Amino acid sequence: MASLAENATIAEYQKFVKDLYGISNDRHFTTSDMLANVERFLMRGLKGIRKGDREKTKFNIMISLSWSISFMNQMHVDVEEETWKRFPYLCSYCGSCPCVCKENKIEKRRSVSADESRRPKTLADFQKMFEEIYPSSKRTLEHAGIHLAEEMGELSETILSYRSVRSNVDFDNVKAEAADLMSCFFGVLNSMKLNAAKEIAFHFSNNCHECHKMPCECSFEKILTYKS
Ligand SMILES: [Zn+2]
Ligand SMILES: [Zn+2]
Repeated sequence: MASLAENATIAEYQKFVKDLYGISNDRHFTTSDMLANVERFLMRGLKGIRKGDREKTKFNIMISLSWSISFMNQMHVDVEEETWKRFPYLCSYCGSCPCVCKENKIEKRRSVSADESRRPKTLADFQKMFEEIYPSSKRTLEHAGIHLAEEMGELSETILSYRSVRSNVDFDNVKAEAADLMSCFFGVLNSMKLNAAKEIAFHFSNNCHECHKMPCECSFEKILTYKS
């Protein structure tokens, strides 16, 4: 029985998801299919926000997050590394913690350099870091949800660009947008006062949360018609 501990790192979470769903995803889904699955559950999560349904939001956001990690496995992007590079305990835009983009009307991205001694260790530490950079008290859950959708669109755009020319610059953009998407997943989770590490550990306490196999043996039809 494979499970994920509450004090797991993002890298361990990514590896776990790869072991669990990598084979199934590689066989069944193209890049576009993977993106569609990230979006599919993300939008269900947003529907949960609109309807004030906390459970629906929580479940679908957690599923979307796992699909996005799976997608990054397919793209061979190190999520933890890219997230830290983009958000080294600082807003990636204004370079401050907490972020002052709004107050100071920052219009140009500042370059940020990382102080490695501040690097969060666990997934839970990353969530805390994002709460400090972007305090949830300064926005509504709806706002966090809209921002998440916005970043989903930006990631899709970078994938489209990358798939046209396949340049390194475009791939760097994919990595940056992947990190932005992560920051917004944490944003929604922080706005909901949810402990992501705890939810993930609960979700993956016994292999795949549906078929309870490692690797997952859920049928293609089951994945396509999955209701949550
Ligand atoms: Zn900022
Ligand atoms: Zn399964």
